[in-house]
Amino acid sequence: MNTKAFLTISISLVAFNLFATEPIDYSQAMRMGVKFFGGQRCGNTHNWLLIDNTNITVSKTCHLEDKYKGIDLSGGWHDCGDHIKVAHTMGYAAVCLLSAYDIWPTAFEDKHSQTYGAPNGVADVLDEAKVATDFFMKSLNNGEFVYYIGRGGEDHRNWVTSAYQSTLTKSEGGNPRECTATSTGGGWQAMNYASALALMSIHYPNATYATQCLAKAKELYVYAQNHRSTNGVYCDEFYGTGNSNIKDEYALAGAIMYKATGELKYKTDATNEVMGLWESNSPMAWDTVADLMYYYMVKMDPNINNGNQSGTLFSFLVKNTDKIMVNANSYGIPWKWFSSKWGTNKLASGCALSLALYAKLIDDGVVSTNNDKSTEALIQNEKIINYMLGVNEFGHPFIHGFKDDMTYRIHHRNAMGRDDNPPSDVKNTTPFKFACGGLIGGPTEEGKFHNLIEDGTFFMETEGGCDYNAPFVAALANIVARKTPFPTATSILKEQTDLLIYPNPAKGTVQIDINSERSEENGLEIINLKGQLVKTVTNIHNSNTLNINDLKAGIYFIKLKTSTQTITKKLVVL
Ligand SMILES: [Zn+2]
Repeated sequence: MNTKAFLTISISLVAFNLFATEPIDYSQAMRMGVKFFGGQRCGNTHNWLLIDNTNITVSKTCHLEDKYKGIDLSGGWHDCGDHIKVAHTMGYAAVCLLSAYDIWPTAFEDKHSQTYGAPNGVADVLDEAKVATDFFMKSLNNGEFVYYIGRGGEDHRNWVTSAYQSTLTKSEGGNPRECTATSTGGGWQAMNYASALALMSIHYPNATYATQCLAKAKELYVYAQNHRSTNGVYCDEFYGTGNSNIKDEYALAGAIMYKATGELKYKTDATNEVMGLWESNSPMAWDTVADLMYYYMVKMDPNINNGNQSGTLFSFLVKNTDKIMVNANSYGIPWKWFSSKWGTNKLASGCALSLALYAKLIDDGVVSTNNDKSTEALIQNEKIINYMLGVNEFGHPFIHGFKDDMTYRIHHRNAMGRDDNPPSDVKNTTPFKFACGGLIGGPTEEGKFHNLIEDGTFFMETEGGCDYNAPFVAALANIVARKTPFPTATSILKEQTDLLIYPNPAKGTVQIDINSERSEENGLEIINLKGQLVKTVTNIHNSNTLNINDLKAGIYFIKLKTSTQTITKKLVVL
């Protein structure tokens, strides 16, 4: 990037900051975004929206009789503000959350245990994701994969909490709910389950659980390889057929399984999946994990391409992020790239995640490019997140209850917390029992948000769910990791946290943390864009506060030489 371009970006950064009247508390947004998943918990899993609801006098559990051929399938996450359980949204959400932890571990803190008691030595996001992975481990038995639990028609009949609903008759959404399995398809959903379990096996601190996760991931992977058919397993009632290309889920699982096991066959599988495949041309959502797949594939092999087609996988990620950047409005929302009016905030959050993934590959030196737009990408990523947090044309956050602002409603029965099946006008006006932290669907068109839970089709603006919050949390993770990381939340600093630089961009001083296992190293070098050494820092410790007042505004690279490799990361000085 030349100096002129950088100046322009600096100015837009300053101008952008004028929008916000006070600093945005990203850590709080992260806490709420993650805890939302605790409000999606089904079964006997300590759903805080039930536990904390003093109106509920029946059991604080739900749907304990979810079973398929006698096998327990309680637990997991409710799909959205309703109470069915759906493989595509649950799988996609778990993959997003666990990838975010894998890529930006320091964005996640350990503030409490899985039941919101004292910290338990496990990052809260893993506590939340474990509810999903526990469930995934029960989903495949005797060659049958369970992908859908409950029935939308029955489930949507009454506006009541999941605990109360469970006491009603079956036709009203109560126990025992129908569990739907396939022995011929469901492969792409099973692959998302495998990806999530493999990521859990890498990061969960309990070795026994991690081993169980990897074993089941392998089993789901084999099932998926042998059952690629998509017939009948889309839960057509709600989700239609989605993006019919399933190779992105397959390749992503192969790349993550390779990371988890080091077994070459997974890398070969993943590479074969993308032969002839080109850019996904759609924002990340429950039916498309392409940009995440590109990230993991490029991490696996920076030059990986799709055979005799038109380029590297990195170039496909660039094509998608270019579309996100070119089509952005002043709030960073790429409206012109959305083909659906449903859950536009969810799509925008997916785009924000894609931008962060692109920047991460460049900033970590995985790829080098002479057309580096990573700074612009991170600015747009932040704008989109800010939009969700209230820096938008409406002046209210789309994270339900962020900064105690409950103006915007969320189509979420457990968050409203009533068991009396109220009429539409009550749903559209009555106070919520909880600020649930859910990402609210979003405007059906630019500048128009109706804030109605029930009225014609406007419920699609107030819908929220696990596949909404997960890309939001993942897209937010890079901001928290850059501005206010939690180095202690990561029990073991891994490859990507050997060198931690924050805040970034920085002014005055910058904090540089180095993995304690690398304490033998002798120094850091700071290199400018021309490749000139501008500073050498010797006598480094695990934690270093560096005065950078002598560095002019601009982009630098910090280089840490270890006995086995050189780690280079970008530092932006303001
Ligand atoms: Zn439930």
